[in-house]
This record gives sequence, structure tokens and C-alpha cells, in this order.
Amino acid sequence: MTTAALIVAAGRGRRAGGDLPKQWQDLAGKTVLHHSVEAMSRHCDIVAIVIHPDDQDLLATTELTPDIIVHGGATRDASVRAGLEALQTHAPQHVLIHDGARPLVPAEVVQAVKDALQTHKGAAPALPVTDALWTGKGDLVTGVQDRDGLYRAQTPQGFHFDAILAAHANRDTPAADDVQVARDAGLDVAIVQGHEDNIKITSPGDHARAEQIMRSAMDIRLGNGFDVHKFGPGDHVWLCGVKVAHNHALVGHSDADVGMHAVTDAIYGALGQGDIGQHFPPSDPQWKGAESHIFLRHAVALAGAHGLKVSNVDCTLICEFPKIGPHQGAMKDALADIMGLPADRISVKATTSETLGFTGRGEGIASLATVTLVSA
Ligand code: MG
Repeated sequence: MTTAALIVAAGRGRRAGGDLPKQWQDLAGKTVLHHSVEAMSRHCDIVAIVIHPDDQDLLATTELTPDIIVHGGATRDASVRAGLEALQTHAPQHVLIHDGARPLVPAEVVQAVKDALQTHKGAAPALPVTDALWTGKGDLVTGVQDRDGLYRAQTPQGFHFDAILAAHANRDTPAADDVQVARDAGLDVAIVQGHEDNIKITSPGDHARAEQIMRSAMDIRLGNGFDVHKFGPGDHVWLCGVKVAHNHALVGHSDADVGMHAVTDAIYGALGQGDIGQHFPPSDPQWKGAESHIFLRHAVALAGAHGLKVSNVDCTLICEFPKIGPHQGAMKDALADIMGLPADRISVKATTSETLGFTGRGEGIASLATVTLVSA
């Protein structure tokens, strides 16, 4: 099942204030569009964005790498149609059409739309209207509107791809949104639960509210890792990605980098995603002698797939020998390089166990690590 995201960002809307259209304005360090694309790409196999031809230079200033970039038409309908036609070569089963100016769409809303497409040709999130509705003229109320059965529509609006492509192709009158296009073509569209955070940035107040929601939604996770490897014959050990000369080696299925294993397990722990042994089983011969950066890179990528990034790492190595101090800087740099982090967000420290226990007797090395993950 292939699901495409089609993100429509060709509008010229400047009601949000500022010199740039709303989808290109900054929101917590990235463009509004960038947040929208990231939120959707976590759930979709292909990402297409539709931009205004004048915004090509703006796109080049972002780190956005959609699979397809299309230039939009004069109307939203024309932009959606151009995006759908560009997606045709990928032949997705489903397409989720999303406003580029809805950067905070929650994962559960996207998932609800995807789930509803198993049983309906179309599905879209909405919230029931709870305020009383009036009609008015000038500064006077002229009547009260029954709100029963009225909904506030949101995006992503999801459809069976072939059906919505045909519906757009056969239409030549403007529509309020893609749900109207679908319904006019005879497709049933299910209502799924929308979310109050899934706002469309239109006015300067919306922008401020989006910043507030982002601050309150900050996801912080903590994980710990612990690992031990015993000494065997050899002339060096690998510790936190650095080869350290020693009169023994560490024994293990992989390169036995006990520090990097603890850091990796701490990330898996913060994600609630098991441990190294689960992702890279020792029973699998392909990991024999493996360099441990493979495990650490996998854990960091898995965090990214969950919308999280490593904020900081604190790793402690416990041994009498080898001496860690001379290598601490190199170890921080090696971990920083693998994890794509500044070295000042990484701590590698060492302690002895005062000659007590297996580390004190020089039988092996233990390591502890703590990491924090935060919203990416
Ligand atoms: Mg290990």
C-alpha cells in the first residue's frame, strides 16, 4: 500500500503579516511549510509539494527534499490537480492532500485519515462546531444559525488516488476543498476526529498560537543504557569509537565497544524500542565483528523516524585500565560525528571502582549512559 502526501503551498496569503506568504514564514527555526512536510512525511511513502513559481528561490533556502516539486496553478484546485498529475507516475493507492499552512497536524489525525481510507473512498478530519452561530449585517445580529451537524473542516483530506484524480480531471468549477470535489463526483467521505492544534495559519494571531502550541507540545524522553564486556587476549580496545592501545582486548560478538553500546541502548530505551540485541541479534552472523557505529546510527535514525532527536548524551566508562582521560576529547568527537551532534552536547567520563568488583580486578569494562531525546 503506497500512500502519497500532496502538500499544497502555492498560495500568496499574506494575512499572517510579514513580507512572505504564510507558509514560508519562520516558526521555531523552520518554515511553516517545513513543519507541515515533516509532519506528513512520517506517515507517507512519497511526498509532493506544490509551490508558486515565484517561490522556487525560497525553497532553495530550506532543507526540504520532497520527492516531487510542482508549480501550482492560478487556483487551489488547479494546484491540487497539477500535484495529482505529477504523482501519477508513482501510482500511489492513497493520497493525503494537506495545507502547507497546517504545520502542527498531530500524528493521530493523519493515522485516523489513513485508517478510514480502508473502508471509504475519502476521509477527512473535522471538529464539530460548538459555538453558537449567528448571521449578521454591519454590527447587528440578524439571526441565529442551527449548528447541529456543522463541522469545521481540516486537512489532510485523504482519498483513493485514482478516484480523486478523476474527480479533479472532470471538474471545471471552483470548489471549497477536495472533499467537495470528491463528494460532487459521488465519492463517500468519512469524517474522522480532527484536533484543536491542527490550525491553519492565516492571521498573525494564528502564528503566535502555533508557537505556543509547539512550546507546550515539546516531547522530552530520557533513556539509560548499561553494558559490560570482559577482557580477552589482544592489544587494543574500542571505546566510544576510539581505538585505545591496551594489553587486552574486549570480547564480544561485535567490536565490543562497551561505551557506544550503552549510549545506543539508552536511545532505544528512551524510544521504548528494546535494545541492541533485539535490533541486531548476536545469533545473526552478519553482525559478527560489526563496527558499533552501525548500531548507534540505527538508533539515532530510529529516533528521527519517531520525530525525536538526541539532545545530549552522558556516558561513563568504569575501569581501572586503560586510562580514559587522554582519549576523552577524541571519544566525544567520534560520538558527535556519528550522531550528528555538536561535541558540547556529549559527555564521556570515567571512573574506577576503587579496585572493587570485576572492573576493579581488571576483568572487564562496564559503561553507563543517559540520553535525552527531544522533539525534532
Ligand atoms: Mg555490548
